[in-house]
Amino acid sequence: MPSILIIGAGLSGATLAERYAQAGSKVLVLDKRSHLAGNCYDHLDQESGIRVSNYGAHLFHTNSQEVWDYVGQFATWRPYQHQVLVKVGEQLLNLPLNLNSINQFFGLNLPNATAMKQFLAKKRHHLKKIDNSQAYVLSMVGPELYEAIFANYSQKQWALDPSELDASVIKRNPVRFNRDNHYFTDRYQALPEGGFEGLVARMLKHQNIKLQLDTDFFAWRQDQDLSQFEQIFYTGPIDQYFDYAFGHLEYRSLDFHFERHEQDFYQSTGAVNYPSLEYPFTRIIEYKHFYPSANPVKQTIISKELPTWDGEPYYPVPRPRNHELLQNYQAEAKKLEAKGIHFVGRLGTYRYINMDQAVAEALKLFKRLTLC
Ligand SMILES: Cc1cc2nc3c(=O)[nH]c(=O)nc-3n(C[C@H](O)[C@H](O)[C@H](O)COP(=O)(O)OP(=O)(O)OC[C@H]3O[C@@H](n4cnc5c(N)ncnc54)[C@H](O)[C@@H]3O)c2cc1C
Repeated sequence: MPSILIIGAGLSGATLAERYAQAGSKVLVLDKRSHLAGNCYDHLDQESGIRVSNYGAHLFHTNSQEVWDYVGQFATWRPYQHQVLVKVGEQLLNLPLNLNSINQFFGLNLPNATAMKQFLAKKRHHLKKIDNSQAYVLSMVGPELYEAIFANYSQKQWALDPSELDASVIKRNPVRFNRDNHYFTDRYQALPEGGFEGLVARMLKHQNIKLQLDTDFFAWRQDQDLSQFEQIFYTGPIDQYFDYAFGHLEYRSLDFHFERHEQDFYQSTGAVNYPSLEYPFTRIIEYKHFYPSANPVKQTIISKELPTWDGEPYYPVPRPRNHELLQNYQAEAKKLEAKGIHFVGRLGTYRYINMDQAVAEALKLFKRLTLC
């Protein structure tokens, strides 16, 4: 009989399942989807041999030695350094904004960080209170870049004016005072051979783990005795667990429009952002940049991302209304902890977390629960 129940076969659930199985516990993992790996899931396109992510591009990056060593056990990792461009008028600028993008946008030839700081000091708004994304961007780069990139992008991505969004949203994309065009700065940046589907499949390949796909926890639990489980880890939406007792937490979703093109490459980098309202999509991802095709077919696959309120819950919306609701749900979740029920991961904690954070937090929770 399994003593550990895990709801969700994404990276959070898979890490906990793997750890408990290694420690000798029998583990049952449920997922309502027909595949494992949660939102990191990817597959090989049969016609072109290109690996395509089903729920948006997933690029692994971490500074944590512990996480890197852990995931290293389950895949061979190929170095990959991500680059993102943003289309402004006819220009393609580097993101995060850096010395190159500032020079290009303003038609300058600033030589170094000092010159860039002096230039932006004249553009910046010197605000006393920086408590939202608009204030943050204006205080970093001034109104021109705010209007050209951030104002419309935020409208499209969040259906909110940047003044309604926490500053934390934009802080994920800080300004750089050098010419480093890479998107991430983490020590380890790589992709698993065999994709994230292969990585999670290997994590869950253990005699102590039983995986049950196509199983919604809420329907399944109707005829189950949950008291048989010593610990339950729930990685689904926290508000759904409590039947939305305090109201629905907001999530922004994406519609992915996939296109196949009969050409070698569609764009020069894996991701190009489109802030302008002229385009209904926020970005175009080209998968061939991540995993070069094993097959020399002259073909490429892209996806256009169209934000929507319907569909899969992807991005928690960081604004005061949701923080307040979340506090109510967290208080209920805390009461269940003593009964061995834990809320974990992106949806269970209603936070945008990267893959390495999902793994790190699951490892930490496992240690806390097993070492005491
Ligand atoms: C568009 C997008 C792009 C991203 N790109 C990156 C990136 O480049 N790099 C990076 O590090 N991170 C990225 N992330 C974040 C990454 O997806 C998360 O860190 C990761 O998915 C967290 O794993 P998780 O297991 O917590 O959640 P999930 O992967 O969402 O897994 C939760 C699982 O629970 C299952 N579930 C939910 N409810 C139930 C239920 N009632 N019954 C049974 N099963 C249920 C779901 O089906 C799902 O499989 C991105 C996220 C998004 C939305």
